[in-house]
Amino acid sequence: MEPSPNQNPGLNWQYIASRQGTDIVSIADRYDLWIDGHKSAPASGDYLSTVNPATEEPLAEVAFGGQADIDRAVAAAKHAFPSWSSLAGSERAKYLFRIARLIQERSRELAVLESLDGGKPIKESRDVDLNLVAAHFFYHAGWADKLEYAFAGLDPKPIGVAAQIIPWNFPLLMLAWKVAPALATGNTVVVKPAESTPLTALVFAEITAEAGLPPGVLNVVTGDGTTGAALAAHSDVDKVAFTGSTEVGKEIQRAVAGSKRLTLELGGKGAHIVFDDAAIDQAVEGVVNGIFFNQGHVCCAGSRLLVQESIEDTFMSKLVRRINTLRVGDPLDKNTDVGAINSAAQLAKITELVEATQAEGVEMHQSQCQLPQGGYFFKPTVFRGVAQSSRLAQEEVFGPVLSAMTFRTPSEAVEKANNTPYGLSAGIWTNKGSRILWMADRIRSGVVWANTFNKFDPASPFGGYGESGFGREGGRHGLLAYLESGAR
Ligand code: NDP
Repeated sequence: MEPSPNQNPGLNWQYIASRQGTDIVSIADRYDLWIDGHKSAPASGDYLSTVNPATEEPLAEVAFGGQADIDRAVAAAKHAFPSWSSLAGSERAKYLFRIARLIQERSRELAVLESLDGGKPIKESRDVDLNLVAAHFFYHAGWADKLEYAFAGLDPKPIGVAAQIIPWNFPLLMLAWKVAPALATGNTVVVKPAESTPLTALVFAEITAEAGLPPGVLNVVTGDGTTGAALAAHSDVDKVAFTGSTEVGKEIQRAVAGSKRLTLELGGKGAHIVFDDAAIDQAVEGVVNGIFFNQGHVCCAGSRLLVQESIEDTFMSKLVRRINTLRVGDPLDKNTDVGAINSAAQLAKITELVEATQAEGVEMHQSQCQLPQGGYFFKPTVFRGVAQSSRLAQEEVFGPVLSAMTFRTPSEAVEKANNTPYGLSAGIWTNKGSRILWMADRIRSGVVWANTFNKFDPASPFGGYGESGFGREGGRHGLLAYLESGAR
């Protein structure tokens, strides 16, 4: 067997490549829209290509949905709403359970497709994304017949047609975060996947048909940003749920302007705060997971490190050593820790920000790994001594790039952690429980992890403050976003 090409030549050990086969997936040459329970060609006859970011090879052509297609999809969802919303919750739950079971049955196939289309390592799509996707449907199936108990006195009623705009970083998982609560509460949906990762949403649509979901309850319209904009603005859409960039989130908010319910899950600039009494090796692992998981394409990524000054040298040397052991390369190799950057455009964005930070003269540590010849890849990178005013400390990179800085006192750590327009996530590393509570109380972010990072559970609400958006997904709070009586 050949050694894995992604290994770092500076290391003393070698990994034998362990490649996940792709026979389990059959990718069609061309995919149509999914409207009213069946495949439907786009009115324009136009198709877009989706590529494998690890090889730059086209995988399939996917329908380019336009206004006429959005009109049809929204009409189908509107038509399906009265009967779906008046079904007993216990009946809706059966569909969600069936969908969850079918996802479990086809989870390896979906994981491979997710890695092929999006570039994420198979060990993440297989062990994280797909498990959580199924868990979200199981969890929300459990709520469907208990809404009266969950919201006593609120008379929970669905809103109507929900437009759900999905990003490319967790294509199927973000779909599950949106579709599962919407269906459980009796809404019907039109989903718009991201242009670069549409394939798993289209297979998901087929799974809903296999589960017997009535036509029109779920529709999928692929396309680009203009498709998303047309969907969000449609007059028969009652609720918009968006995950993506802050810039587009603001555009949608302006377009919707109070005319429909809206939840926005936007970017972040999460901070790890590592105190001198933390379990250092555990914290190094947590920081590595926080920024290099999914190539850093994570809205709640821990992209800033605040380390207490007294342990900076020790911590940074362990961290730099650890990033040299990360295996970067073929997403389908089960050894791979860091896969491909999702698109050429995202790679260009990461490269620009890294070059600008280098030009500021900031100390840079980059993994010595060899990147594959083709495809979009970026070396795990850490900048040390980043100034608060630096672009890297303020802007979301959405790539495998960490900005490290120091602090001396807990209040300085809070001040620095809160010094961005975002407020999505933070991680506190210390062995003092009282300090965790003191910090968590003061950090302005939707989620604060303690001595861990990137832990997700469908029962736990997720969302942000400030430019990270508003509204919660997951848990009982997430259901409210799909109920007429919920907060606007
Ligand atoms: P976008 O916000 O453009 O994309 C997110 C989704 O919105 C996609 O489905 C996209 O469609 C759609 N969309 C794009 N324009 C519009 C519009 N005007 N109206 C409605 N929907 C629209 O993110 P990008 O893909 O451009 O990524 C840019 C940056 O956003 C990243 O570098 C990252 O910083 C951040 N980001 C944050 C995410 C998060 O989870 N918070 C997720 C993804 C990106 P299409 O893909 O077809 O253009």
